[in-house]
Amino acid sequence: MPNFILNSNAQSNGDHEVHNTTTGCTFMPAVSNQIDLGWHLDCSGAVAEAKRRYPNNRINGCYYCARACHTSSLGLKLVAVPASKATVKFIIPQMTDSADSPARLPSQPAPVAH
Ligand SMILES: [Zn+2]
Repeated sequence: MPNFILNSNAQSNGDHEVHNTTTGCTFMPAVSNQIDLGWHLDCSGAVAEAKRRYPNNRINGCYYCARACHTSSLGLKLVAVPASKATVKFIIPQMTDSADSPARLPSQPAPVAH
């Protein structure tokens, strides 16, 4: 049965990742940051053990060596910050234009008296 460890350092998204030490994963944390989870049949057993020990932390399987237990979307991390900054840049000039626009509106034509 494979042996699993938990990274004591959180990822940038707040997840603590579970790694399978028997796969030679290149994303394995330094030994000083490895919390031994013991032998498990598969990653789901190791993740369950980590959640039992650390119920207040977000536990996730490593994308590379415990992919069956990896749940976070990698795309979400890349999109979140740049998209909101880009939106702000585009909105500000539009607001400046619309503030001037009432003066440029054509006046209502006067009703014609018969
Ligand atoms: Zn890994």
